[in-house]
Amino acid sequence: MEGKVFLVGAGPGDPGLLTVRACAVIASADVILYDQLPGPEILASLPQSAEQIDCGKYGQSHILEQDSIEALMVERARAGKQVVRLKGGDPFLFGRGGEELETLRAHGVPVEVVPGVTSAIAVPAAVGIPVTHRRYASVVTIITGHEDPDKEGSSLDWAALAKVGGTLVVLMGVGNIGEIARVLLSHGKPPSTPVAIIERGYRKDQRVTTAPLNLIATRASEEGVKPPAVIVIGGVVDLYTQSDTIDLAHLGIGP
Ligand code: SAH
Repeated sequence: MEGKVFLVGAGPGDPGLLTVRACAVIASADVILYDQLPGPEILASLPQSAEQIDCGKYGQSHILEQDSIEALMVERARAGKQVVRLKGGDPFLFGRGGEELETLRAHGVPVEVVPGVTSAIAVPAAVGIPVTHRRYASVVTIITGHEDPDKEGSSLDWAALAKVGGTLVVLMGVGNIGEIARVLLSHGKPPSTPVAIIERGYRKDQRVTTAPLNLIATRASEEGVKPPAVIVIGGVVDLYTQSDTIDLAHLGIGP
């Protein structure tokens, strides 16, 4: 059989949020390359029949560099294997899936993309925050907070982001929350803008921290907020009451 690579989104961590297609390609995989972002429950359920390759702990030093991951995918596919590259959320939202696709194409390796439920939308939903709402937000902007906004030549237009309104969703932003809040405030975003930080969405130890924009960095450091977390900035955060209003009992979350 011809080898092939599947770039698969695992969703935000709840095995129930894996797509039917993701489950099917995982079940028939010869090789699965994963990192820690899909979370312990999904990783524990991967088929033992497949060769499992740990590409590293998300957010920390990588066991395998991106180049080696891509080289492995190409090599295994060329050996006729069905290769699953499993990624948290959706593979094409800040997951380097785009780069992997380019490499596979350049090597003539057949690829199928299996989209996933992205944390950018699902993790706010887990605590009752809709990213758009007719009364609160008609636009949602999803950005990476990985880059220090003070850095010379930041690729993000922070003045525009402060002005666009609606909901701003920040992934990979925990380490820079102080700089992000300060830059948005300096470009005129109101200090009272509500912010929620949702850590480890859909895991048993999911936690929410809220504060207005001018206080969120202090609150986050008081609470010891850690990645992975989704930061939501905007009026929709007012719709968050208590996360136990959303029933996640099947995950052991809530009352
Ligand atoms: N492709 C992924 C995002 C990869 S970037 C997706 O579509 O969801 C990694 C970032 O995603 C993390 O830093 C965090 O901001 C966010 N993230 C992913 N899963 C999460 C989860 N279960 N809980 C909180 N944040 C999560």
